Amino acid sequence: MKIRIVVAGRLRPAVLIAVVAAGLALTGLAQYSVSAIAEATIQPTSANQPAPVITSPSRVLGAETTQPTAGLPKLALSFDDGPNPLTTPLILNTLEQEHVHASFFIVGSRVAGNGALLRREYADGDDVGNHSWSHPDFGTLSRQQILTQINQTERVIAAAGVPAPFMLRPPYGDLGPNFPKNLPLAIVLWNIDPKDWDDHNAVQLTQRIIAEARPGGIIDLHGIYLSTAQAIGPAIDVLKQHYDLVTVSQLLGIKPGTTGIYYGYK
Ligand SMILES: [Zn+2]
Repeated sequence: MKIRIVVAGRLRPAVLIAVVAAGLALTGLAQYSVSAIAEATIQPTSANQPAPVITSPSRVLGAETTQPTAGLPKLALSFDDGPNPLTTPLILNTLEQEHVHASFFIVGSRVAGNGALLRREYADGDDVGNHSWSHPDFGTLSRQQILTQINQTERVIAAAGVPAPFMLRPPYGDLGPNFPKNLPLAIVLWNIDPKDWDDHNAVQLTQRIIAEARPGGIIDLHGIYLSTAQAIGPAIDVLKQHYDLVTVSQLLGIKPGTTGIYYGYK
């Protein structure tokens, strides 16, 4: 799979936030409700937390801020395109054995039959983010089609028993010209790309991950390749000596309601 990075139009400051209750009937396993992601049309009330107001570029672009220094510098591994019944368990086994956490960006259409993997990710303390329903390039979609891609995935993840994601990674890193403004989601991209889709050589991938790692980085990997699952153990063995391996939300302090576009720290 060829991944291209397109740094698309910046989100405008999110001064409004709308939460539209979807009122999904959640039964059985599902423990979490989900609100449809929608463009802002309603002024927030003071009953809830104030809407995030983004005024400075550094708030919008994590890449322009400086990472706080305390202990080892932080670094985040992220895995896109899963869940995958073969490779996701291998990745989770490695993360558990290494006692580190990572972030998973989920393709909604792949959740059916794999809900246990999402629950395990969440239970382990890993991030579970939204990576669209069917992995289209948002640059080719209408605003409504993009919203549908996002909301279908929010719902299927919540129905699997994991809180609906508050982070979105658009496929190919492309928001496109029709991306809805002021969505109550953090857009999480990356600033380190070891290109695990390129040669599928686990040994070389391990070396690239180690060589390209840097403080405050978000490493983009894909959780659907055996070579990636094989590469991360030896890479983590080395990275752990120099970095605190955390989730993207921990790295950037992203919480539900956080907005903006994030690439990692410089
Ligand atoms: Zn992807």
